[in-house]
Amino acid sequence: MDCRNAEAKIDSYIGHRLSLREIEEFLEHVQSCPSCYDELETHFIVDRVIHQLDHEKDTDHYNYQKLLQEDIHNSLEYVHNEKKKRSLRGFAKILGWLILSGLVLALIVLIYQNGGGLI
Ligand SMILES: [Zn+2]
Repeated sequence: MDCRNAEAKIDSYIGHRLSLREIEEFLEHVQSCPSCYDELETHFIVDRVIHQLDHEKDTDHYNYQKLLQEDIHNSLEYVHNEKKKRSLRGFAKILGWLILSGLVLALIVLIYQNGGGLI
């Protein structure tokens, strides 16, 4: 992902509207690009301040840099867990197909042994 792409995705990241792959690519970029990270931080702070003003909370005591770090950490954890879930689902699918193939094969063998009929 390049800077232009990353900057275009900042608001979608903050609004949780990116796909798993997009989150991963976006975070990979901002973590290695200080300029995009600064841009993300600015948008993140503005977003949080507006949110807190809407809810009439005192905004002076928030450490936004830390909140952003936590947000990135949580997003990375989310990506990691989702990927794990997906690979487990993929494995279960393959296992399901193997079992099904085994059953079909067993059925074919049974039919063959019975001389072409099931009865
Ligand atoms: Zn960049």
